[in-house]
Amino acid sequence: MTEICDYRECTGCTACASICKHGAIVMTEDAEGFLRPVIDSALCVDCGMCKRVCPINGDNCGKEIRSTIIAKSNDRQTLLTSSSGGIFTELCKAWCKDKDTYYIYGAALIDGVVKHIGVNNIKDAYVFKGSKYVQSDVRSIFPEIQQKLKGGEHVLFSGTPCQVAGLKDFLIKDYDNLFCVDFVCHGVPSPKVFENYQKYLENKYKSRIRNLFFGRKLNGWINRYFYVEFENNRVYKNFSITNDDPYMTLYFSHYSIRPSCEVCHFTTTRRNGDVTLSDAWGVEKLHPEFDFADGASMVMCSTDKGTGLVDSIKDNICYFEDSVDRYLMYNPQLARPVKFASNRDAILKKAVADPDFYTLFKSGIKRRPFFRRFFSYIKWNIAYKLKK
Ligand SMILES: Cc1cc2nc3c(=O)[nH]c(=O)nc-3n(C[C@H](O)[C@H](O)[C@H](O)COP(=O)(O)OP(=O)(O)OC[C@H]3O[C@@H](n4cnc5c(N)ncnc54)[C@H](O)[C@@H]3O)c2cc1C
Repeated sequence: MTEICDYRECTGCTACASICKHGAIVMTEDAEGFLRPVIDSALCVDCGMCKRVCPINGDNCGKEIRSTIIAKSNDRQTLLTSSSGGIFTELCKAWCKDKDTYYIYGAALIDGVVKHIGVNNIKDAYVFKGSKYVQSDVRSIFPEIQQKLKGGEHVLFSGTPCQVAGLKDFLIKDYDNLFCVDFVCHGVPSPKVFENYQKYLENKYKSRIRNLFFGRKLNGWINRYFYVEFENNRVYKNFSITNDDPYMTLYFSHYSIRPSCEVCHFTTTRRNGDVTLSDAWGVEKLHPEFDFADGASMVMCSTDKGTGLVDSIKDNICYFEDSVDRYLMYNPQLARPVKFASNRDAILKKAVADPDFYTLFKSGIKRRPFFRRFFSYIKWNIAYKLKK
């Protein structure tokens, strides 16, 4: 075996490395900092299992979205510490309610690295709150989940659409005791760029990072801050989504994203998650009467399991029913993948090699003009103040 799937399309989901009984596939960092399967031909017996479980080679077996609500948690603390409406936390609470034992798997930021971990106590699930704009490392997670499912444990897995598809293909069969949550995904940035950006900030602030938030709601949902606390008590903060922070600009302008995200198979309304979450972009235009100031999620169900769990949280959320079609124009990654800038490869090469992000910022990165960023900030600030 020389290639499992098309090089550009490989999402790094780890299904192939996880299924290989011969240890012939090792996930290895590529020149852009993304993990990719590398085959050791001395160990490979050409059984073809890696190709079979690769979600890129099969049909996307996702199911069409059958119901959609726009929602936010009634718990203010949950709402403020989550990326959009805090619905992921509400789903976790409801899902583990009547179970003696269970496991929740999601992405956590631990010692500067974003990786998937499993917890077996809802009190520990706070580590999953909030979007981490980095590709999460799922190495060894799929076999661990399989073992738990076979042992009859209840498992809730949350991840990118390609991670959920990879897990399901790796498992080969369906498990009633597995619940999957995915989200609408813009793409995943390189872990190496994230590592470099943390080093850059630590040098600049002459201290180690104590806490990092990709989108802290200090001033509402839309004007979120990339927010870093250092051990010397200094703080760095800059707007996340108005293209003011260098790391987030590289992300939102599509310079640091994995090549497979430009040809993503999962940017569709056929979903692999039982529930799909997203920001409710567009709610401010379609339902301005809804109080979205501190966040609102779109919650899409594709299975009976998904609908059942979402129904069970309705007393704990503020919501209304809607149709996903009305939001497609505001959330394009439900319909098509992102498009990269023509100089994406050259800029990413620099971001991987040289962590001087402010020089990089001035070296050909396209971002929205200052007046548009300023106007956007003012607009959302006014919208936020009017809702308060
Ligand atoms: C890389 C990325 C891209 C996204 N792109 C879009 C987009 O284009 N449009 C849109 O509407 N929404 C996007 N989202 C999703 C959105 O920002 C919210 O996460 C989602 O709406 C759920 O919010 P919440 O408030 O319910 O829960 P939150 O508490 O904010 O959600 C946390 C959940 O996200 C998971 N998660 C966080 N970071 C990662 C990661 N790096 N890899 C895998 N899982 C992760 C956690 O495990 C947890 O399950 C993206 C999220 C991420 C992480």
